[in-house]
Amino acid sequence: MSGSRHQSPATGHVAGRHFLQIPGPTNVPDRVLRAIDRPTMDHRGPEFGTLGLELLDNLRAIFQTSGPVIVYPASGTGAWEAALTNTLSPGDTVLMCRTGWFAHLWKEMAERLQLDPMFLDTDWRRGADVAALADALKADSAHRVKAVCVVHNETSTGCTSRIDEVRAAIDAAAHPALLLVDTISSLASIDYRHDEWGVDVTVAGSQKGLMLPPGLSFNAISAKALAAAETAGLPRSYWDWRPMLEANKTGYFPYTPGTNLLYGLNEAIDMLLDEGLANVFARHDRHAEATRRAVRAWGLEIQCADPRHYSSSLTAVRMPEGHSADALRATILARYNMSLGNGLGILKDQVFRIGHLGDFGDLQLIGTLGGVEMGLRAAGVPHGPGGVQAAIDYLSGNA
Ligand SMILES: *Cc1c(COP(=O)(O)O)cnc(C)c1O
Repeated sequence: MSGSRHQSPATGHVAGRHFLQIPGPTNVPDRVLRAIDRPTMDHRGPEFGTLGLELLDNLRAIFQTSGPVIVYPASGTGAWEAALTNTLSPGDTVLMCRTGWFAHLWKEMAERLQLDPMFLDTDWRRGADVAALADALKADSAHRVKAVCVVHNETSTGCTSRIDEVRAAIDAAAHPALLLVDTISSLASIDYRHDEWGVDVTVAGSQKGLMLPPGLSFNAISAKALAAAETAGLPRSYWDWRPMLEANKTGYFPYTPGTNLLYGLNEAIDMLLDEGLANVFARHDRHAEATRRAVRAWGLEIQCADPRHYSSSLTAVRMPEGHSADALRATILARYNMSLGNGLGILKDQVFRIGHLGDFGDLQLIGTLGGVEMGLRAAGVPHGPGGVQAAIDYLSGNA
C-alpha cells in the first residue's frame, strides 16, 4: 500500500470529505441540507399553501419564464415523460436530436410511448446539428413533425446545444412544431431562457445545477404547450398538467409533494438569486475553462470537438488509446475518495467526466483536478505535467 494513500487497510475508509464530482447528483450545500432538516408539514394545511405559492413564483426566475412551472416528486426521467404525454398523441412524429446517451434514452422513451421519433444524429462530439434540423423542417411541408426535442446540455459528452439557433431554425422554416428541451444538467449552471428562446416545455431536475438531492423534476410550460395539452391524446394520469396547475393556483398539489425537498428548493433558489444568475453562469464558464486548460496541459483530448458547444457544467475527457477510463476512475476513488462520471453508451470506458457544476468553488475545482492528475500518474496513464498549474494560472488571472 502506497504511503500517499490515507486509507485504513482494515476498513477501506479514506480520510477527508468525499469529492462527488460526477455531473449530477452534485454536492448539496450545507444551507440546503439544513433547510431540508425540518419537520415535515401538513401538505394540505395553511402553512403549506404559503410555501407553495412563494416557491412556484420564485421558480420562474430560474427558468427565465413568466409562465407556470410544474414540480413533480420524481427524477428527471419523469419530467421527460410528462413533457411528451401532455403535448402529443399516439403515432405523432417527433424530431429528436440524438447528441448523446441522454438524447438516446429520451428517444427510447418516445418509442415506448408509441410516438414515432425521427433522429438527427451527431458524432457525440458536438451539440445538435442545427443546419440538418433546418433542412428536415423545411422538407416537412405537411407538418408531420409535432415536436422537436433537444437536450440542452448532453451530460454524456459535455456538449451544449444552441437552443437560440434551434429556435431560429424552426422559425426560418415557419414550422409549427413544439420545442421541448431537456435542461436537466444545465438549468442554473448554463444560461437558459425559456421565454426568450420560445421553448414550449423545459424539462429539469433537482440534483444537478439546483444543488438539491435527487427527487424533484420540473416542466416549464408555454401557452402553446398548454393549448396542445387540451387535445393531446397520449394517456396520462400522474403526469397530467391540468390537475397540477389547478391545485398550484393556491400553492397546493394534487398528491403528496416532496415536502422537505421543497424546503431545500426554496433555499437553493434564494442562494442562486442572491449570487445572481449571471454570476452563477460566469462562475461555471470560468471553472469549465480552467478545467479545459488542465486537460490540454495533460495532453488529453476533450470529447467536445466544437468550442462553440463546450459545456460549462462538465468536461468529458477522452482516454489515450489502450487505456481504460473505468480503471482510472476506480484508482481515483480508492486512493483519493473522489467519484468521477463514467462513459455512457458508445463512450463506455473511453471517457471520464468531470462535473464542475452546482455548489462549487475554486478550491474544490483545484482539489478535483489535483485528484485527476494524481490519478493519471497512479494509474500509469501517459500525460503531460502541469494541468493543475494551468488551472491555477487561469483562475488567478481571472478572479
Ligand atoms: C441526469 C440527466 C437525465 C436523467 O435524469 P434522472 O433524474 O436520472 O431521471 C436526463 N437528461 C440529462 C441531460 C441528464 O443530465
